[in-house]
Amino acid sequence: MSRFLTDRYKGLTPYVPGEQPADMTYIKLNTNESPYPPSPKVLEALDKTAVDRLNLYPDPTGARLREKAAALYGLKPDNVFLANGSDEALAFAFMAFCDDRRQAVFPDITYGFYPVYCALFNIPCIQIPLREDFTLRSEDYFGINKNIIIPNPNAPTGLALPLGDIEQMLQTNPGHVVLVDEAYVDFGGRSAVGLVGRYENLLVVHTFSKSRSMAGARLGFVFGNAALIRDIDMMRYSFNSYNVNRLTLLAGEAALSDAAYYKDMQQKIVAARDKAASGLKALGFAMTDSKANFLFVRHPDIAGGALYKALREKGILVRHFDKPRISDYLRITVGTPEQMDTLIAALRTILENRN
Ligand code: PMP
Repeated sequence: MSRFLTDRYKGLTPYVPGEQPADMTYIKLNTNESPYPPSPKVLEALDKTAVDRLNLYPDPTGARLREKAAALYGLKPDNVFLANGSDEALAFAFMAFCDDRRQAVFPDITYGFYPVYCALFNIPCIQIPLREDFTLRSEDYFGINKNIIIPNPNAPTGLALPLGDIEQMLQTNPGHVVLVDEAYVDFGGRSAVGLVGRYENLLVVHTFSKSRSMAGARLGFVFGNAALIRDIDMMRYSFNSYNVNRLTLLAGEAALSDAAYYKDMQQKIVAARDKAASGLKALGFAMTDSKANFLFVRHPDIAGGALYKALREKGILVRHFDKPRISDYLRITVGTPEQMDTLIAALRTILENRN
């Protein structure tokens, strides 16, 4: 920290993402990326013309991409906000709708960025503990009279809530926003996007980083009532009006025109997840019923940190959180079937050789 940093930010603890090693020698199962490349249509779209036009700013309204994304869900373009990754969308939403009077409520054990936004924007956050088995008690949120941020499925547990629970949160908190973070919805959850026309307090956040194989392009979406979307857009125009770059806009449009490709990839990942879950159970691992592209697992005989290190030494990166209640767990991204076989073989060796 330099001596020039303002007092306001001296105590800030930033969000630390998982490791992104520069070399590709690791089997990378630590940040929930897709193991597959984007649709071939994305490569076609990023042609010489696209590169030559990088001298020009991107369309700040992202009109074509918003139109395509809206059409996918029977919405209008003014129901769609585009962001430089869903992290940015979340930041703008916290900025726009939360303050010390309109506080943010989210689960205790969830995506690590939410408390960071609260600290950054001076928002008192209320974290509601999950049950012993990591399930979320929806009733805790009914009528709570605050802004609710619900990841569905949750991270890092992978547990999904039925849409009925989300609807009850919406109905019992009409004076506040319910933001559903659906980063992992395409791997077995139920999306709330279909409810956008019915609830003026609903925001649904999507990302292209997981099921659309484009974490490196940074593209996130928010779907919601046009008035809410305008409010978030006001934050963006006040902050960085060209937030989504030209290449990402083109890549996003191309990706949205190849639904069949992504459906196939998502099915492959779900099949690999379920097969890996069986393999891990056979080795004695306990786990949550994940509906995401990762597994949240624990072995009764080895601490999470030790297992993380042993895997790292074997060239496999997974995620370990040194946090209360979950420090015995590993979050393992679902890779290709071959990567999952390598992981299970490595874990078998580690377990056999433990003293
Ligand atoms: N929400 C959740 C629950 C996540 O796990 C992540 C990814 N780590 C994000 C949002 C952000 O994704 P991105 O910024 O890549 O769109």
